[in-house]
Amino acid sequence: MRRFRCPSCQHEVFFSNTACLNCGTVLIYKPGAGFSASTPDAVPCANRDSIGCNWIAADGQDLCLSCAHTIVVPDLGVEGNLDRWARIEAAKRPVMRALFHMGLPLRDTTGAPAPVFKLKGDPLDPDRPRVLTGHDSGTITLNIEEADDDQREAMRSAMGEPYRTLSGHFRHEVGHHYWALLTEADPRALETLRAVFGDDRQDYGEALAAHYRDGPPADWEDRFISAYASAHPWEDFAETWAHVMHLLDGIETARAFGLIPADLPVEPADLLALPMARLAEAWIELSIALNAVNQAMGHETFYPFVLNGAVIEKMDAIRRLIVGSRLVEPRKVA
Ligand SMILES: [Zn+2]
Ligand SMILES: [Zn+2]
Ligand SMILES: [Zn+2]
Repeated sequence: MRRFRCPSCQHEVFFSNTACLNCGTVLIYKPGAGFSASTPDAVPCANRDSIGCNWIAADGQDLCLSCAHTIVVPDLGVEGNLDRWARIEAAKRPVMRALFHMGLPLRDTTGAPAPVFKLKGDPLDPDRPRVLTGHDSGTITLNIEEADDDQREAMRSAMGEPYRTLSGHFRHEVGHHYWALLTEADPRALETLRAVFGDDRQDYGEALAAHYRDGPPADWEDRFISAYASAHPWEDFAETWAHVMHLLDGIETARAFGLIPADLPVEPADLLALPMARLAEAWIELSIALNAVNQAMGHETFYPFVLNGAVIEKMDAIRRLIVGSRLVEPRKVA
């Protein structure tokens, strides 16, 4: 994320601010244009009062570019769900901004928002099936208990994962959506992806069952960004895609604060023009430093992953696919 200034007093404002904390100017964010002071003709997103969405309503719509992609919101009759929904949308907005800046399509062929999100809580009846977080044909379902720190941490610990966040879920699941979209738009892309990530025609259900039964291969760390990535080529792609997005947003943020060399560009689209090895080099140096700072504070590791050569090559394959895709359109960044 870049740094933003109040349009009235130039004080620093944060991406989630609905008003300037210094002068009180009411703020409204427009993808591609940044923050402006709210004016009578700038219609705010209809979710502003309920969940604090600070984006502008899309042209002729009630909702903003981010909220319009959520087609199922949590049951607001359940205590705590309004807060969960607000936290989830606050984590989703930077991801939607990143996809917009990467130039990726956010509409399907009929012009409807895509991907779309269903934010659902488990049914009260314990005999009914739980809500599984995952992707299916452009629809991303998120179990809203992921918005509760205690629940999410318990799951992270139980699954033996080094990292589990709402941002991570969104970046992973949109990866599945763009695998489908990129390969649909260009059959050669599918061949390229199979050469890099493996043959996705192997049975997905069986592969996942085997992963949970037998665990990852002993040498997974040499070839995959995470143990889960070794389960199936689709999961490898989604995990790796998430890390491409982690790096783009992480580098944009670090660059905005002067924490990495100024010869790296800030914008996601410009970063994507560089070989992934160049981004990884800057990122590894930064993450070693931030891991040490986190350790000094007694926190968990900031970036608990190893970007080895094999992983960086996969990330570069994703980068080349995005850049080479006929789907991508240049967009103004803000
Ligand atoms: Zn101000
Ligand atoms: Zn909104
Ligand atoms: Zn997945």
